[in-house]
Amino acid sequence: MVLDSPYDVAEGGLAYIEAMESLPLAQTRLLRTAIPGPRSTTLHAERVQHVSSGFGVALPVFIDRAEGGILQDVDGNRIIDFASGIAVTSVGASNPLVQARVRDQLARFTHTCFMVTEYDSFTAVCEWLNTHTPGDFEKRTALFSTGAEAVENAIKIARAATGREKILVFDDAYHGRSLLTMAMTAKENPYKTSFGPFPGEVHRAPMAAPLRWPGGAENATVEALAGVEAVLAAQGADTFAAMVIEPIQGEGGFIVPAPGFLAGLRDIAARHGIVFVLDEIQAGMGRTGRMFASEYEGVAGDLVVTGKALGGGLPLTAVTGRVELMNAVHAGGLGGTYAGNPLACAAALGVFEAFETGDLLAGALRIEDTVRRVLEPLVTEDLPIVEFRGRGAMLAIEFADAATLEPRPLLAAAVAARCHARGVLVLVCGTYGNVIRLLPPLVIGQELLEDGLAVLREAVESVYADSTAGSTADSTAGSAVGAAAVRA
Ligand SMILES: *Cc1c(COP(=O)(O)O)cnc(C)c1O
Repeated sequence: MVLDSPYDVAEGGLAYIEAMESLPLAQTRLLRTAIPGPRSTTLHAERVQHVSSGFGVALPVFIDRAEGGILQDVDGNRIIDFASGIAVTSVGASNPLVQARVRDQLARFTHTCFMVTEYDSFTAVCEWLNTHTPGDFEKRTALFSTGAEAVENAIKIARAATGREKILVFDDAYHGRSLLTMAMTAKENPYKTSFGPFPGEVHRAPMAAPLRWPGGAENATVEALAGVEAVLAAQGADTFAAMVIEPIQGEGGFIVPAPGFLAGLRDIAARHGIVFVLDEIQAGMGRTGRMFASEYEGVAGDLVVTGKALGGGLPLTAVTGRVELMNAVHAGGLGGTYAGNPLACAAALGVFEAFETGDLLAGALRIEDTVRRVLEPLVTEDLPIVEFRGRGAMLAIEFADAATLEPRPLLAAAVAARCHARGVLVLVCGTYGNVIRLLPPLVIGQELLEDGLAVLREAVESVYADSTAGSTADSTAGSAVGAAAVRA
């Protein structure tokens, strides 16, 4: 297979390509062809011949370069990135601080396996996480490669430390695609369908989701906590090793728990000797405008799991927590061939440097202000959008009938498809697939952000107008690329 450059000889040949690649990628949206364009279409047809069809794709375009808030495809289109590779490239997809450290590490060595011989960047990443995660107590950290692997290791640690087996998780939770984390994940399709049986001892409790709480948002915390106590009582509270929750749910639909719910859970866990685990894989590392989303609720986990943005695009995840828990595991009980790979650790040190020098948390709050100004009014207009929610640069709108809250997934898919066609990459999420989520890189420029939001706003209005005009927008427009929602 030959990967052609999008810049053909007619435009100046190799010298032109080299000149282009040394220039910063223009931070403007540009449509040179339809999306997907002819080169992407050809490459996608080839992909189908070689890649398992088990992998979905949100937008079948092939990327040539990415930087700041732009993904440039092989047809030369410049697409606004409201996905960040699912909350990964928060510091930008080609952040110079990350690139410099990875380049230097690449020249020295790529791998030793930390269980075979050591390197100090691993220690430095652990030290940073021990210092910056919430909780004023002595901590230790263990590094891994994927989020699911880190969540599983948090369970191993909690079991070793407590001598108990059971795990409590919540409605609408997402924790990964490995067998144990699939069991912990709530949504059946596409994550769990046909993949069982799953490991046992996973129990599910209500999540204080304000919008759909049957007793009303103002009662969600008290009633959901009572529901949690009921599940624990029925199963035997002292048989639970861990309680695991996302401080803001990701795949489940960017649901922010009702105020006080996280603190209430922490207190319940403490009362019953259950390890309280915060899965900050999607919401953490600055995404919400604080370094960790649980800071908004003043809550620290006994263990906290990080990933996604931690490695700045290289695979790196971590479990950080109380020293007495982290050191309760027998020597040799934790590890992994690639766990804390040197290139990934170098990248993470670049990510930390970007946060220390770049005021990225302020960037997330600026994004929230701008997005709120454009999208929040949609909730009060005559549109089937029932909530604008999230924090910082982790924001979403939910499509449902205003009166009945009946989810409108096809509308969300059609809006996403229209955004994609116009060069704005948004993702769909939610248990009902009816939520459009925005996860722009924290470094996205203001003009680019506003351009992308204007496209999204226009897409919402025009798709809704089409659907009420009796056209088929609601039933067919979503069958294109937008319906193939990507799942983290
Ligand atoms: C993405 C995600 C995971 C799984 O991470 P992988 O790296 O895909 O294994 C777990 N928990 C949350 C909250 C996530 O968003």
